[in-house]
Amino acid sequence: MKVDNGQIFKLHIRKGQVNIDTMQEYNLYYYEDTGRVWLYCPCGEGHLISIPTIPTGKGIAWTITGLSSGVVTMYPSILNEPCGAHFFIRDGKIIWA
Ligand SMILES: [Zn+2]
Repeated sequence: MKVDNGQIFKLHIRKGQVNIDTMQEYNLYYYEDTGRVWLYCPCGEGHLISIPTIPTGKGIAWTITGLSSGVVTMYPSILNEPCGAHFFIRDGKIIWA
């Protein structure tokens, strides 16, 4: 089911190997080693997205703030091309674009 506008996503900070089996909807997983954020796409179709916050050499890296407080804002917006979901993460919430 499509996530409601303003839905809060809870932040988890992780280290080491990415473990997608333990990821759940309405949660954001920030991996310190790689600087990638993982989440289930808020379209509700069940695909995982990973977003770089450290430049990888291809494409852009997103800015992320609020890691220490747990209330994350990312910039710019996120467009998940396979399903067309386009949203912001602001103050720990999903805001549809
Ligand atoms: Zn999607």
